[in-house]
Amino acid sequence: MSTTPTQQEAEPEEQYDSALVTARRQLERAATHIDVDEGVIERLKHPTKVQQVSVPLERDNGEVEVFTGYRAQHDDVRGPYKGGLRYHPEVTAEECTGLSMWMTWKCAVMDLPFGGGKGGIAIDPKSLSADETERLTRRFAEEIRDVVGPTKDVPAPDMGTDAQTMAWFMDAYSMQQGETIPGVVTGKPPVIGGSYGREEAPGRSTAIAAREAIQYEGHEVSETTVAVQGFGSVGANAARLLEDWGATIVAVSDVNGALYDPDGLSTHEIPTHDEEAEAVLEQDAPQTISNEDVLELDVDVLIPAAVGNVITADNADAVEADIVVEGANGPTTFAADTILEERDVTVIPDILANAGGVTVSYFEWLQDINRRQWTLEEVNEELEDKMLSAWADVREEVEAKDLTWRDAAYVVALSRIAEAKATRGLWP
Ligand code: NAD
Repeated sequence: MSTTPTQQEAEPEEQYDSALVTARRQLERAATHIDVDEGVIERLKHPTKVQQVSVPLERDNGEVEVFTGYRAQHDDVRGPYKGGLRYHPEVTAEECTGLSMWMTWKCAVMDLPFGGGKGGIAIDPKSLSADETERLTRRFAEEIRDVVGPTKDVPAPDMGTDAQTMAWFMDAYSMQQGETIPGVVTGKPPVIGGSYGREEAPGRSTAIAAREAIQYEGHEVSETTVAVQGFGSVGANAARLLEDWGATIVAVSDVNGALYDPDGLSTHEIPTHDEEAEAVLEQDAPQTISNEDVLELDVDVLIPAAVGNVITADNADAVEADIVVEGANGPTTFAADTILEERDVTVIPDILANAGGVTVSYFEWLQDINRRQWTLEEVNEELEDKMLSAWADVREEVEAKDLTWRDAAYVVALSRIAEAKATRGLWP
């Protein structure tokens, strides 16, 4: 079944806004700062298409269960749709649509030749054996085969999926196409066309964004204190790089709480979520504190890198950091953002800070198409270049229009999309 929403649905009253509400609000806000055709804004409030499929799965005990999968495609004016596939019980068409819009802005602010996509299956991945995950993934690949492809829509790992999931997806797609097509997904293991440095990339870009923000505010990284919430792929890689560059990492946390040492933690010695899940509190440190306390520490830089909606109207006044760098997607609610702005706290938005993931996905796609693997050094150098270039573009808007970094990032993204639409024109 394929549905194309044309009307704005009634939005649910939730404690925090959904990704779709936030994405639309950011779009409207950015539109007030630039001269864009109303029709373009209206178009961008809706996805091009949301594909909904049924995914039957034969469980290990022989029983068949049917799950619902989605692929939302927001806008492809600048290139193929790009975005994650997540396996999570709360995956819905609306959530995928909102997240696909965020991907459109993220790709555009990084000036990548992609539009936004997102999809997944409403399922608890922990309830599946490895064999069941493989069967589910292969069947899902088959169900959405018509709408994906290296020049159409390129999925990547997300919550509940990983490099192995992408390998199965790529294999299933390739088998049906009759040839090996590595560029249909990114985030694969390097042995089948994945890119070196992909896993570390969102943490690396978060660290680069933090470094640039620190220097922009006139400080040295080596004289900076940093607190990081979440010690997974994003948080741990960002913390370790910033420590390597001389920063003092005073706190890191996992879901159970945080280690705190005002003299600085040795972040390379603390296992990441991947190395040993939820083992942060098992390490030695002078003090342990709660995840709420991490957000309120008197540090120079705070990096929320765990989950969304952690800085809210309830605690934004208590944030002591001068700079917040969003490693996680959507860690700051709209209300909190306003409070932080009033308090002159610099917030570097997720669509810029953690965009290293999609940027190295773009590098992976290029490597797949050209059949040439880059070294880790090449990947990191190119990522550094892309981040500095996006940083400069956003900074220009911050300074020219006196905007927050978030508004400026959306203005950069929307300007590029609007210009592409105006240049291509509307057909027929
Ligand atoms: P991960 O699973 O590797 O690690 C998450 C970490 O956060 C773990 O240490 C976990 O214990 C901790 N955590 C979980 N719930 C928490 C809570 N309620 N409070 C405090 N800590 C909690 O995840 P990740 O890949 O690092 O992703 C983190 C965030 O970054 C997510 O918002 C994700 O969407 C975003 N992100 C990830 C990528 C990527 O490619 N990995 C790219 C862009 C954005």
